[in-house]
Amino acid sequence: MASALRDLPAVHRLTSEPRLAAFAGLLGPQAVKTAVDAVLQSAREHIAAGEEDAPPFEALVARVQAQLERSHSDSLVEVINGTGILLHTNLGRAPLAREAVDAAAAVAGGYSNLELELESGARGSRHARVGMLLRELTGAEDGLVVNNCAAAVFLALDTFAKGREVVVSRNQLIEVGGGFRLPEILLRSEAKLVEVGTTNKVYLRDFARALTPKTALLMRTHTSNYRIDGFVADVSPAELAALGRRIGLPTLEDLGSGALVDLRPFGLAYERTVPQAIADGIDLVAFSGDKLLGGPQAGILVGKHALVARMLANPLLRALRVDKATLAALGATLRLFLDPAAVRRVPFYAMLALGLDGLRRRAESVRAMLGTHAPRADVVETRAYAGGGTLPLSPLTSAGLRIDPPGRDASALAQRLRRARPPVVGRVEDGAFFLDLRAIAESQDALVARALVEAFEA
Ligand SMILES: *Cc1c(COP(=O)(O)O)cnc(C)c1O
Repeated sequence: MASALRDLPAVHRLTSEPRLAAFAGLLGPQAVKTAVDAVLQSAREHIAAGEEDAPPFEALVARVQAQLERSHSDSLVEVINGTGILLHTNLGRAPLAREAVDAAAAVAGGYSNLELELESGARGSRHARVGMLLRELTGAEDGLVVNNCAAAVFLALDTFAKGREVVVSRNQLIEVGGGFRLPEILLRSEAKLVEVGTTNKVYLRDFARALTPKTALLMRTHTSNYRIDGFVADVSPAELAALGRRIGLPTLEDLGSGALVDLRPFGLAYERTVPQAIADGIDLVAFSGDKLLGGPQAGILVGKHALVARMLANPLLRALRVDKATLAALGATLRLFLDPAAVRRVPFYAMLALGLDGLRRRAESVRAMLGTHAPRADVVETRAYAGGGTLPLSPLTSAGLRIDPPGRDASALAQRLRRARPPVVGRVEDGAFFLDLRAIAESQDALVARALVEAFEA
C-alpha cells in the first residue's frame, strides 16, 4: 500500500500536464490545482482501502480532465435541443435570427447611439429605440422595452397602481414558470389585488361592482398555460376595455406569449395576438420578447401614448432597462415581421414550418449514422411543443428517435449525452430516451449522431 501511494505522481506533474494546464486559461490555475488535489485524494483513499493500486498517470489525467470538463460546462455553452420544446426556458428560449445576431454583434463590440439623438446631439431614450417598429407592428400608439415581461408588468403596476386597487378576475390569477405569480407581483408593487368572479365564471358586472375610489387599473392576464372548460363565463377583452373607457380607468393586459402574427398557418392553435389586444381597445399590453416573438429576452409594453409616457418617467425604469445588444437584436427581429415572407427567418417560425417528411428523413439518416452502435434506436413520430408556457395544449406532430438503451437506463444515457460537446438534451419517457429533431438544426444532425455513438461506446 505504501509503495502504491508513492507511485502517485506529484501534484505539479499533473497541473503542468498540457491537457490539464489548458484548463487554467478557461477556469483559472486554482481550479486546476483543486481538481488535481481532489482526484489524488480520492486515489489515496481507494489505495488505503485496498480497492486499487496507484492508477496509471494517463488514468489520473483522464479523471482530472473529466472533472474540469464538467466544471467548464457550468459556464454558458451552446447545447443541442432534442427535447421538442421549441422555446425551452431552461435552454434559453428563442434562438435568434441571423439578422438579430448580426445586429447585436455589430453594436456589442463598440459604441452606439444608444442614448444619443444623432440629429440634435441631445440625450435620447434607449427605451423608445424600437418604438416606431412596435407602433407599426401592433397598431399601438407607443411602446417601450424593459428586461422581461415580469419587469414590464411590475413597471406598469408600480406606475399606475401603487397603493391603489387592481381588479382581476379570479380565473386569471396565474402562475407561469419560474415563480412568476401574479398575486405576488401585485403584492410587491404595493397594489391591492381585488379578485372578482369565481374560478369558472366572471361577468362584467363583477368588475363594475368592485370599483371604488381607490381603483387604479382593470387588469387581465392571458392564461396561456391552462384552460378552464365546461360551465364557464368570461369577460371578453373588448368588454373590459369598454368598461375602462366608460369609467375613465386604464386597462392592462399581461399577454405574456406575445405573438405578433396568427399562428394557425404554422399548425398551432389560435393564440391571442398583440395587435388583437390593441384592436380590442386594451390600453396597455405587456409581452415577452423571447416567447412567440422569437427574439431576445425582453419585456415589451405597448399602448396609449400618455400611459407609456408616465412609465418612461418612472425612476424604477432605470433598474429594468435593457442593454444595447438586446435592443439591436429586438429591433432586427421586429423588422422581420414587417414582411410576412421574412417571418420564417425567425428560427422559431422556421422550426414550426418544418415538414414532417423532412424531419422523418433526417431521423432516418441519424439512425443510419449510428450503424450498429445503437441496435435499439427507432425512428418514431413525436410531439413537439411551442413551449415557454405557451400553447401547452397544441402539440405539433414531429419526428425523432426513440432509443431503448441496454438495461433500460435511459437516464444514464441522457446524462452521458449532456456531457457531450456540444451537450445534447433530450427527453426521458417510460424508460426510453427520445430525441425530437424539430428544434435541432439539420447542420447539427451529424454532431447528434456522433454524441450518441460516443455515449454508447462509453
Ligand atoms: C411568460 C409570462 C410572463 C413572464 O414573462 P418573462 O418574459 O419570462 O418575464 C408573464 N406573464 C405571462 C402571462 C406569461 O405567459
